[in-house]
Parts: sequence; C-alpha cells; structure tokens
Amino acid sequence: MGKIKMLNPLVEMDGDEMTRVIWKMIKDTLLAPYIDLKTEYYDLGLEHRNETDDKVTFDSAEAAKKYGVAVKCATITPNKERMCEYNLKQMWKSPNITIRAALDGTVFRTPIIVKGIEPFIPTWKKPICIARHAYGDIYKNTEMTVGDGCKAELCVTDREGNETRGLIHSFSGGGIIQGIHNTDSSISSFARSCFNYALGTKQDLWFAAKDTISKTYDHHFKDIFSDIYEKEYKESFKEAGIEYFYTLIDDAVARVIRSEGGYIWACKNYDGDVMSDMVATAFGSLGLMASVLVSPDGVYEYEAAHGTVQRHYYKHLKGEKTSTNSMATIFAWSGALRKRGELDNIPELCGFADKLERAAIKTIEDGVMTGDLTALSSLENKKTADTETFLFEINNRLKRE
Ligand code: NAP
Ligand code: MG
Repeated sequence: MGKIKMLNPLVEMDGDEMTRVIWKMIKDTLLAPYIDLKTEYYDLGLEHRNETDDKVTFDSAEAAKKYGVAVKCATITPNKERMCEYNLKQMWKSPNITIRAALDGTVFRTPIIVKGIEPFIPTWKKPICIARHAYGDIYKNTEMTVGDGCKAELCVTDREGNETRGLIHSFSGGGIIQGIHNTDSSISSFARSCFNYALGTKQDLWFAAKDTISKTYDHHFKDIFSDIYEKEYKESFKEAGIEYFYTLIDDAVARVIRSEGGYIWACKNYDGDVMSDMVATAFGSLGLMASVLVSPDGVYEYEAAHGTVQRHYYKHLKGEKTSTNSMATIFAWSGALRKRGELDNIPELCGFADKLERAAIKTIEDGVMTGDLTALSSLENKKTADTETFLFEINNRLKRE
C-alpha cells in the first residue's frame, strides 16, 4: 500500500529537550512510514529562537494563520537559570503566549482516557474538556494596600475627560484593593472559539461565572456569550444536536462532579486556572493531557499540555534509559492530522489519526506503558517500557490496524 498523500502542509513547531527527542522518534517511527508527511518546519528550540531574536516564533504563528493547522512540541520558557544555561541575549517570552496572542486563541485541554487508569471520580466515563479564557481579570490587575482612613474609589475617564466615580470602600483600619478589567473583544473571541470547538467536536458547551454576585462584571460575560450564541450559533447547535447552557459557577462545580463527562466546560481565567489543575489531577497524569489552541476564526494548534520533561532529558544526555510518556505528543500529531484531513477532505488521513490513537491506547491497555503510568495503572500485567520501546510497541499495534 502506498503512503497517504497530503494536500496542504501542517505547520510543524519543533521544541526543546526530551520532547524534542520524542518528536523526532514519533515522526520516524509512527508517521513517516505511513504518510507522505508534508510540513512547513519551524524550529522553536530555544537556541534557534535566540539566534533569530525570537522572530521564528512570530513567523510560525503567521504560518499557522496561513495554513490553519499547526502542531507544536513543548518549549522552554526561559527564566534566569535558562538565560545562563543557553547564554541567551534576553529572556524571551513563552512561545505559547506569543502564539496565543497572535491567534487570539483559547486553549482546550482534554484528558486521554485509558482502561486501567481510572479517574478519581467514579462517575467520570468520558473526558471533560476545559476551555480557559486566557486574558485579563486578576492576571492583569492593579492592586494596593490601603491605610487607615483612606477612601478608595473607581475612577473612569472618558475621551473628553469626563470622570465617572464609584466608591469601593472607606477604610477604618488598613486593607487591600484590586482593580481588574476585561474587554468585549477578548470575551467575544473566547466565546466564538468555544462555540466553534463545541461544533467541531460535537460536544455540549457549559459556561459558568458568578453573575449573581458580580452583577455587572460577570454578568457581562454571560450576556456576550448569550448574544453571540443567539445570533451566530443557535441554529448550527440545533443541527449538530448539541447544547449550550450557562449556569452559576457553584452549580457547574456540583454538576461536573456528578456528571459522566463528555462536554466542554468554559471557564473564566481564574476558574480555568484552578479547575484545569483539579480536573487534570482527577483524571490521572500530565502525560495523558492533550491540548489545542483554537482561534475565533478557526485556526488550530495542537500540543501536549506538559513541558519539556527536563529531568528525563538530562538522563538521556548521560546515556541513561528514560521512560518518558509520548501519548500527549502523539495525540497532538493525530489531532493535527485529523483536522488537516477534515479541512482538505482526505478521509484516509482522518482514518490514520483514529488508528494511531487506537494503537496508542491499546498499547497501554495491553499493559505496556511508561513509568509515570505504571505508578497509576490498576492493571495486573503492567510493565514499564522505556521511551523507545513504548513507541515501538505502539507501532506494532499500528501495523495491525
Ligand atoms: P514538565 O516538563 O511538564 O515536567 C514536570 C514533571 O512531570 C517531570 O519532571 C516528570 O516527572 C513529569 N512529566 C511531565 N511530562 C511527562 C511525560 N510526558 N512523561 C513522563 N513524565 C512526565 O514541567 P517542568 O519540569 O515544570 O518544565 C520543564 C520545562 O518545560 C520548563 O522549561 C518549562 O518552561 C517548560 N514548559 C513548557 C510548556 C509548553 O511548551 N507547553 C508547558 C509547561 C512547561 P518526573 O521527573 O518525576 O518523572
Ligand atoms: Mg494552574
């Protein structure tokens, strides 16, 4: 049988450390033998970002906008230690932040479910996908401590210089205040990304905030979601047989715990930060968390939720065996290939993505898994495979598919 042909390229964003090592292994072992892989390659490895003054990151984001589908390897976000380690010209921004800003996108995180690694919540049978709004609120705040006898006010000045004021509090005794904001444009983009992703994956969409207490701020989120839904998405949701609903955040939390999963939970920035950690932990392992960035106009960038697995990389450099979980990176590739296949109308490519995911899940369910999962799995015949063997075993099953 000939290899599967592609029409348009995927934008390939290579990365750092252990995930860069895995990246090449996945391509060589699981993709190249089956697909005439067409990619436009961008090296986002830290050395190359530094050489290009980070231009490569911006170029890769533009390419993603041009072609519509990208797949990204985990990358180092430089800190002080990395500045020295890589002798950097400056502390370059996180590529994920640069790409997210360029695409104005929302990140959707979905756990990969396998038998033997059961969620801590027994009713959860299907993945719960969390969408986190990634702009504003307490992440772009202005805060102060306030002394005894101070009066704190909100003051907004319009273009003509007119002021509108609102009392926050008159302090007797010390205290604290905080100013936060969000924008209609960012909330609208978030809403559209969520509605599009729900339609694309045929899942219900839940959105929750605290509008009963925050009658202007949180209520505004609710109103924007509702307006956009009524005007732009209601019909297509009906056709797809899926539902959008808003509920109070307290109610959402209770429903999530009682649910069996299988929906998208859209969260405000802080709720998403906290709840994604809760959901990820309850489902099991970072190595089983897939992630996709979706722009409001339908650009998709697939990646793993974990980082570059630095500790394993240093072992690898010393020539020691590693057991690094490649599942989330494999699912980034399968997600991107499936989306490319859908957009270019190549059913074989979508079919290949399904087979690759089935083979990978089957491998773990047969008891062959990496160390992070043997620690969690309830299977009796489980064995820890090293990084290469795990991929080799997946390929054995993929050949059979
Ligand atoms: P990390 O790479 O996610 O790893 C944290 C720990 O989690 C690892 O040391 C390992 O535990 C375990 N782990 C994570 N992924 C695993 C996998 N696939 N297989 C097996 N074990 C896995 O996070 P980090 O150490 O905080 O960050 C390392 C670098 O990644 C940093 O430079 C950070 O900037 C970057 N980062 C990038 C992204 C991204 O590009 N999206 C996201 C997060 C972090 P054990 O060591 O105990 O085995
Ligand atoms: Mg967090």
